[in-house]
Amino acid sequence: MMAKQGRIGKLGSLLTRIRRAILAGLGTLLTALLATGLRGDWLLMYVQIKRLWQEDTTWRTIPSQHTSFDIDNVTNHEFVGFGGYYMKDVGFYVLQSFTGAFLIFYGVGGYLKWYYYIQRRERAADWKCQPDRFLQPEDDRLEFWLGSLNIAIGSLSFGILVTYIMNGGETKLYYSIKDYGWVYFLLSIPGLYVYNEASSYYTHRLMHHPILYRRYHKLHHHFKAPTPWTAAASHPYEFIIFQFLLEIPIFLVPLHAGTSIVILESIR
Ligand SMILES: [Zn+2]
Repeated sequence: MMAKQGRIGKLGSLLTRIRRAILAGLGTLLTALLATGLRGDWLLMYVQIKRLWQEDTTWRTIPSQHTSFDIDNVTNHEFVGFGGYYMKDVGFYVLQSFTGAFLIFYGVGGYLKWYYYIQRRERAADWKCQPDRFLQPEDDRLEFWLGSLNIAIGSLSFGILVTYIMNGGETKLYYSIKDYGWVYFLLSIPGLYVYNEASSYYTHRLMHHPILYRRYHKLHHHFKAPTPWTAAASHPYEFIIFQFLLEIPIFLVPLHAGTSIVILESIR
């Protein structure tokens, strides 16, 4: 009898651990999804996945990504558009980028905010590390408008970047592992990860330099009782710097489209 109870107890604690692990995994996924809305990179991920899926199932190279697409030699201006700046259908991509970014960020972030900050506000000690502190309504509003401005900047920049890529604009992204070999591919994953971590960390440290802090970064730390929406609430200049750090590697270093998708989402 005792042995049976012991076994049931063990099974119960195992199930609790599994449940906790699943919830933690779901929480991580939701946070990653929130981040794709925050900076607008969801659209880049989407088109890359689509390309890998549709055009490169045999791991062949997509020619437009590898041949130098010399703008002066382009005769089909309709394909390139906007006087040859690879901006055909820019309105379509930017609109998609905006819509998706706002829906993802305020959908996922709004759900988390409602679930914890409204439904479980009375039981804040169970889930919040500062259970007595909440944002004042005016800071709640400031967080929303500031975040919305930054999300608009992020989705505009990724909308333009995706338009450029979809029109054959040159980046260092590649689609076939064979192009640079498996060793390069496998090393590029931790390499990009370290770049993202280090660039975010040291730029954030730099932001704590008294001059930069007072002028720009203080605004982000104004929200002393952060909510899921605080992630987007920073000075727009600071937001643009982090956006630049996120987007620049695909122009400088050969990166497999799959690597860039995974790593883009692992950093925030
Ligand atoms: Zn800081």
